[in-house]
Amino acid sequence: MKRVLVTGAAGFLGSHLCDRFINDGYHVIGMDNLITGRLKNIEHLFCKSNFEFYHHDVSKFIHIPGDLHYILHFASPASPIDYLKIPIQTLKVGSLGIHNCLGLAKSKGARLMIASTSEVYGDPSVHPQPESYWGNVNPVGPRGVYDEAKRFQEAITMAYHNFHGIQTRIARIFNTYGPRMRLNDGRVLPAFIGQALRGEDLTIFGDGSQTRSFCYVDDLIEGIVRLLHSDHVDPINLGNPDEITIEQFAKEIIALSNTNQKVVFKDLPIDDPKQRQPDITKARSILDWEPKIDRKDGLKRTFAYFRSLSADDLRHTEHNNFEQYITK
Ligand code: UDP
Repeated sequence: MKRVLVTGAAGFLGSHLCDRFINDGYHVIGMDNLITGRLKNIEHLFCKSNFEFYHHDVSKFIHIPGDLHYILHFASPASPIDYLKIPIQTLKVGSLGIHNCLGLAKSKGARLMIASTSEVYGDPSVHPQPESYWGNVNPVGPRGVYDEAKRFQEAITMAYHNFHGIQTRIARIFNTYGPRMRLNDGRVLPAFIGQALRGEDLTIFGDGSQTRSFCYVDDLIEGIVRLLHSDHVDPINLGNPDEITIEQFAKEIIALSNTNQKVVFKDLPIDDPKQRQPDITKARSILDWEPKIDRKDGLKRTFAYFRSLSADDLRHTEHNNFEQYITK
């Protein structure tokens, strides 16, 4: 049985990866320090004999007894509000954390994949973004701790590949959504859905003309698995090119929620990218992959998840703290 370590196992993407590898017959070792991850996301796996959980911070030395075939480094705060609340941990997991994972990969002879991000492109001046674009990142802005950690992570991963011959894979992941996102993590989809379900107005930051391209989580996981098993070492974009303005997105959520909520406009956060759309030409040709689930279907599935949450879970409105950091 192949053994795989998933860091960030209790997070949104990490927990879906654990499910996928368990279903595919792997022995899965999930690791998380539970700063932003939630055990609830993986509690259904604790009864499985091929699942183990380590409550551990990957920024500290990682000891895993026995064989290890794959490492997927998906631990990291992943929303702008988290970078602001825990900037040092964000930097450490993308630097010390990946260093430990690479050392582990080297000692075990394991293949390592990192979760990189569209944030390596910053506020892009090239649109849509191909992998060959080097980006437009403000290193000292509020997003710098995440963007630069992820850029460093790509650099050290490539260095270990070139210098030590480690098998590495780099997924540049664009906005992804689906069940198990944290309602209070500040990202636009859980923010809007939470507001709609609580009967509050939806808060659009800026004038809502900024764009994003949202990929349903099941599509993304399929792309990750294909990349892991490919022999492609250079970074590859994974995301859904179906681009939408944030204002249009808010209207879709209101329509799906069957409520008559209004939108309210708030100031735009500093360095908020104006546009984002993955160029997935490489993923299409190298991995024979493209997203299959359209936004309407994906949003319905996501709504079903959030509607199943308790009233207590729905009351979380922590994302509003974000206002203290916005442009004055
Ligand atoms: N956004 C918004 N209202 C919210 C939360 C976010 O209008 O309540 C906007 C945010 O300013 C950004 C977009 O939605 O332009 C996507 O934000 P998110 O935090 O989900 O991720 P990003 O793609 O910026 O990393």
